[in-house]
Amino acid sequence: MRARELLLLAALGLTACRSARCEVHGDPLIDREVPVVYGLMGGDYLDARDELFPRADALGGCVVDPDRRTTVRAACATCVEVARHWRSSRLRTRSFHGFEEREPPLDGR
Ligand SMILES: [Zn+2]
Repeated sequence: MRARELLLLAALGLTACRSARCEVHGDPLIDREVPVVYGLMGGDYLDARDELFPRADALGGCVVDPDRRTTVRAACATCVEVARHWRSSRLRTRSFHGFEEREPPLDGR
């Protein structure tokens, strides 16, 4: 594409989709179905998301919409894979350090 055409497209605001790439991995952003993440997420999730997989999901807010578990957005294939591994490793960690190990039993035993 020639410079004059690019200038025209830029003036019309049409160049954003031309070279959209993941800011972390450099992969092209392609519309794909991604999970919608709900709830008050800890800072570790948001920090990891910003740093490791910013283009892997969509934030859904505090109220879960059971009919909207996924959505379509411009996503990075590497982000999606990294997020999947991050979530699964965190779930294993959480189950390893089970809630009952940290909390006293309710009956006081
Ligand atoms: Zn990415």
